Parts: sequence; C-alpha cells; structure tokens
Amino acid sequence: MILSKKLFTIFGVPVFADIGCLILSSILILLSNVAFNVYFSILFVILFWLSILAHEFGHILMARFFNTYTTKVDMFFFGAMAHMDLGELDKPIRIFVVAIIGPLISLLIALLLYLLTTINTHSILHEFLSILLRINLLNGFFNLLPGFPLDGGHCVTAIIWQLTNNHLKGLRISVLSGMIVSGSIIISTIIYFLISFDSSLTFAAMVSCFLLTQQFEMKNRMDNDND
Ligand SMILES: [Zn+2]
Repeated sequence: MILSKKLFTIFGVPVFADIGCLILSSILILLSNVAFNVYFSILFVILFWLSILAHEFGHILMARFFNTYTTKVDMFFFGAMAHMDLGELDKPIRIFVVAIIGPLISLLIALLLYLLTTINTHSILHEFLSILLRINLLNGFFNLLPGFPLDGGHCVTAIIWQLTNNHLKGLRISVLSGMIVSGSIIISTIIYFLISFDSSLTFAAMVSCFLLTQQFEMKNRMDNDND
C-alpha cells in the first residue's frame, strides 16, 4: 500500500486508506459530478466506501465469531481488503460462511437500494440510488466468481476441502480456477475493445490483472511449501 494512513477504527479494527483510495475517490467524484452537484458527488463517494466496508466487516465479524481476528482493513484503488488469516479457520464450513457473508451483505444493500428506488422514481435521488444499487450488485456478484482470492474462490476451497478432506487441494483448485476467471476477463476485455472501441470494461481488466498477481503469488507460495 502506497502512502497508507489510518483513517478510523471500527469494531476495534483500524481502517487504513492509501493514495489509490484517494485517486479512486477523486475519479468517482469527477464522474458522478457529471450527473450530480458536488455535495451529492461527495455523499456518493462516502456511501460507496461505506457499502464496501459493510461487505468487509461482514467477513470480519463472522470470522471473529469463529475466533479469527482481523489486524486491519486497507482501502485502496481496487476496493478494500480485510487482513485476516483464513487458514486459522479449522473447518471448511467456517471458511464458507465467512466468505459468503460479504457478497450476501452487498446483495442485501442492493435490495434495500432497489426498494428505495421504487419509492423515488424520476428524480435525481432515483438516479443516485440506482448507481449505488448497480455498484453493490456488481460487488456482490463479482466477488462470487469461483476463484481465489475472491469470496467465491474461498467457497470453492471450502467445498473441495469438505469433499476430499484435503485443504491444500481445495486451495490449489481455487487458485487455478481464479487464474482461469482472471485470464478470461482480461482476454474478453481486449477482444471487446478491439471489436467495439468501448473501454468501459477497463477497470474490470485492471482488477483481474491485480487478482492474477495474487494468484501467481499464492501458487508460488504453495509450490515452495511443497519443495
Ligand atoms: Zn468479500
């Protein structure tokens, strides 16, 4: 994390933000300022980060319930990351529950926003809530993709572990499926851009490149542990 600073503490867990968080917030303010005035844009960015943190604290509080503690949360260019060792969770069902709760919270927030949009139709507030709704839907479903280090990947690890009684095998399959998912998104984005000259999927490709580095890091760590 570059130039990381502690912002606040929630449930005893310090939350840090780095320069990437500031850059993403600035981009979001500039983009949303096209549709909203500056106060709405700032409120939009605050609610964006709060919904991202709600997802992370779902993981954190569920892990704490199973006596696994989080040292800190980093807010950075690609969202937020809770630093906890899922390896401390000694049963596959526990990893599954801790992983699935984050996307479920994002989808629950999306549902609440959807209900609010049905009350406020044809207004600027409707547009405001609709964008937040789409972001939470995306955050929920994207994280459910079945590849490490996404939440869906941890679910794959847990399911394979449960079926084979082999934690490492679950982790290896989830890292491999993660590489397939990330690679597919990157290749699809390039093909889509070459066909349509539409660069709107660039952020998804950037996130996938970031995930790919984590997947190769994890694969190397597992290979080295085996030697
Ligand atoms: Zn998550």
